[in-house]
Amino acid sequence: MGKWVKGDLHVHTQNCNDGTLSVDEIIRRSKEYIDFIGISGHSYDIPDCFEGQYAEVLAAREKYPELPIFHTAEQNFPLQRHTMFVTVPENKEFALQRELVQNFHRQSGHEGQEEACCELRYVKEGWGEESTFMIYNHPNDPDVPIEDFRVIAKENDVFKVIACVDRGERRAKQTWEIGEEWDKLLCEGYRLYARNGSDFHQHFTDGGHDYFPGEFVQDCVYVEENNYEEILRAYRNGRFYCTVGNCIENPVFTIKKEESGNYRVHLSLTANVEMEQIDLIADGKCVCSFNDIPRDFSYDGVFSVSKYFRVRGWGKGVNRKYREGQYTPQFLLNPIFVSDCEV
Ligand SMILES: [Zn+2]
Ligand SMILES: [Zn+2]
Repeated sequence: MGKWVKGDLHVHTQNCNDGTLSVDEIIRRSKEYIDFIGISGHSYDIPDCFEGQYAEVLAAREKYPELPIFHTAEQNFPLQRHTMFVTVPENKEFALQRELVQNFHRQSGHEGQEEACCELRYVKEGWGEESTFMIYNHPNDPDVPIEDFRVIAKENDVFKVIACVDRGERRAKQTWEIGEEWDKLLCEGYRLYARNGSDFHQHFTDGGHDYFPGEFVQDCVYVEENNYEEILRAYRNGRFYCTVGNCIENPVFTIKKEESGNYRVHLSLTANVEMEQIDLIADGKCVCSFNDIPRDFSYDGVFSVSKYFRVRGWGKGVNRKYREGQYTPQFLLNPIFVSDCEV
């Protein structure tokens, strides 16, 4: 019997030139929101960032044994702009970050699609495709061309995740809008997934403008046990969904092939805030929308599709905790592929 655990993989510490708190302080103040965390250095802060960060990560693992703490880094990828590679502690986690910065840092002249593919091959050979994955952070800053995504998705199976909501309530149209880059790549058969991240640097209460990890955005990951291997595998296989403001929980999203060759979709979830709209998306198009969703939502429908289904939704505005105005609660469920469906 599995369970949903929450976390955030995009978090900066005092070891970064624009971060403010220690790993311990961040965990202490965000523990109520998260079950796991990833600590992200900045590759342009080398060499101090990684060593300082890693020492703090190791100490925090001793202090919080129940909380998986990934050591990762925001790299200046050969393609504009920021990516992160995540692996488990036993898999040369420190060397992964250090070597990628030494060998593929864009600011050191490693630029372009060929260098990006070279980096992905390097990771595959040195760390294993199954034991690591790459996240493309804020793909809307600047907009990443579809050709760039395609070339790295095609190279091997290391690139798995593209960000949606990031720092400052910034939402990437590439993963949010229907029929944009993410849908195009899914239609082409690439198995890519969407996540949210706080990109925490400095909290509102300390004079900054960031939420603590898990306080505003959440990745909800399905695992048997809350450990590094399970979390990594769930990210690699898309067994997670992402939310803003914890707006939904316990989604059940399944498909079944009917004798007609069509697919029966089942979707149910619990909305924690008043939801304005939920879209069921298939093969890059919206096939069904629901409005004014009650707390417990359940739907069954039959569709003829050839590739995949996914779901997105958003709610009515909710007052911000630390600032004036309202934010939009929203969520994305990762795709399920018809080719995985038993006949
Ligand atoms: Zn960034
Ligand atoms: Zn960042």
